[in-house]
Amino acid sequence: MGSRKSYRAKAIVLDRTVLGEHDLILTLLAETGEQLRAVAKGVRKGRSRISARCDFFCESDFLIYQGKNLDVISDAATVDPHRGLRTSPEKIAAAAAVCELASLTSFEESGDAFLYPILSRTLGAIEEASDQAHLDIVVAAYAFKVLAHSGWRPELRACAACGDENPLFFSLIAGGLVCGSCAATIPDAEPVSPSQIGWLRSLISLRFDELLVAEIDDETALFLLGHAHSWAATALSARLKAFEFALSL
Ligand SMILES: [Zn+2]
Repeated sequence: MGSRKSYRAKAIVLDRTVLGEHDLILTLLAETGEQLRAVAKGVRKGRSRISARCDFFCESDFLIYQGKNLDVISDAATVDPHRGLRTSPEKIAAAAAVCELASLTSFEESGDAFLYPILSRTLGAIEEASDQAHLDIVVAAYAFKVLAHSGWRPELRACAACGDENPLFFSLIAGGLVCGSCAATIPDAEPVSPSQIGWLRSLISLRFDELLVAEIDDETALFLLGHAHSWAATALSARLKAFEFALSL
């Protein structure tokens, strides 16, 4: 064991998979934006002193040594346990939806420095959110921001099909807003209000600090969360179970 290489990684726990009776495989988003997988031994049933630092959504400083097949966590120090996430089932559901997206938009051996700070800030914003509407827009904003960064930016300025500057419909097929005449030929085009259009733009342009204090009603927040979900599920061609659960609350 002494000859094996070890490395440190500040990382957020995205997911946990059961391995045998006592162990877990953690899926981590490292500060480099790389996705890591490592075994945490003895952490099931809280038997290890590092159990708490290997919990969902925890931001920890891990010491990992390279194993034959899987790397193994040998130590972990707390960076931010995001305790405020655990104060309500709604916050846990929101954090799970965000971490599900983080695991689908990050990759092993391919770092993207954008991913870690935005996930860490989003988990903090979920802790700070004062009501369900703000929780919804934090999750929706994370989804749109990360997808836009990863190459799936919705067209929100002009008609995605013809460039008309007064688009009044939204279409997943077209990839964003479309105008009335194009909408007639696109099966999933649905009318959206100027306020909904303004909010879709704001999710990408506003900082989380601004979103947390923005005035938003429940109906608009749910519209945004629903559209963030369908945008993400379509872009990633994936069923987003945690996101679906958050949407059902
Ligand atoms: Zn058009």
